[in-house]
Amino acid sequence: MSASRLRAALDEALARWPAESVTRPAEGHSRKDEQFLSFVSAMHARELLPSHALVSFVDEIGRALQAPASPSDSDCVAGMSRELAHWIRDTYTLHLLPLLNPDGRARVEATSNYCWRGNARGVDLNRNFPWAWGGEGASHNPRSEEYCGKTVLSEPESAFLAGYASSLVNPLQIFLSLHAGVHHIYLPFADSISRASGAAPDNHAAALAAAVAAAGTVACAHGVHFDVGRAADLSEYPADGTIFDFMAGAANVPFSYALELWGASNPAAAEGSLGCNPIFNPQDFELAPALAVAHTLISELLANAVPPSVPPAPHPRAAPGAVPRATLAALASAASPRALKIADLLRSTCHLAASETCP
Ligand SMILES: [Zn+2]
Repeated sequence: MSASRLRAALDEALARWPAESVTRPAEGHSRKDEQFLSFVSAMHARELLPSHALVSFVDEIGRALQAPASPSDSDCVAGMSRELAHWIRDTYTLHLLPLLNPDGRARVEATSNYCWRGNARGVDLNRNFPWAWGGEGASHNPRSEEYCGKTVLSEPESAFLAGYASSLVNPLQIFLSLHAGVHHIYLPFADSISRASGAAPDNHAAALAAAVAAAGTVACAHGVHFDVGRAADLSEYPADGTIFDFMAGAANVPFSYALELWGASNPAAAEGSLGCNPIFNPQDFELAPALAVAHTLISELLANAVPPSVPPAPHPRAAPGAVPRATLAALASAASPRALKIADLLRSTCHLAASETCP
């Protein structure tokens, strides 16, 4: 789905929601009793599925909100129930960023280079955040696909998100970074320092339990297996400066995940005339089941990720590369003309459910 079609599809999906539940960025306001849930997809330009999955998930919630009640006594149900849709709408303010990397996506669309991962400047946005930034789990070589950028938060896309995290009235409860390439549910931390020390966020046990439960339902309903665990344990290599580590460690989000929503069953065989595309994205005949799996996984995570009774600490605790909120806000507001242009693009794709302003 191209960037332009994505926007139209999101508008169409949100049209299914009750009008009073949808707020555009310019119309919003903040409430102190809201709980925030944030989705971010398409950090990596070549991963087309996550944007599609997010928009279709919003569409599925809209359809379920209008559906008749359908009680079920089974724990193994694919898709969104009316009850869960209403619970999500009534519990959370959803912040949707379907396309975090608009100029990287534009480059992929213009060149058909489906191996391109970074933004238009070649920076891997998922190595540009202030959490162990620039460590051994990233590259300082601008030609590397894991190039971390010249400085921490050097890119307007990442600066925008850091500013967003520091501007919320309440901390986020759940943060989902949507990716594709394998079937994994990654929990923080992924960075090289935590990899060596075995560190995990305070809420790790509850976050892991929610992920295991969601993966179990997906396996039962779709026959698709997701590996679940701390990224430092699941992945063969460390990743420094990632957004989901930053959200968990510096922004104190109790449930922060990186969801790898889809993977080719045989990546080696997938390479061919389409380059990397079949490695990171389902082909036409695989799309519907891939979206169904993504919908079940996300909805089950939301159902199981119960916020802790003790609210998150108001300030970041000391951890690898942590940056105080005030500094984050200052970094995020250092706006170059390109940064402003990207921020406008991001705002234009940021739609809200319930009543919160989009930064
Ligand atoms: Zn990715």
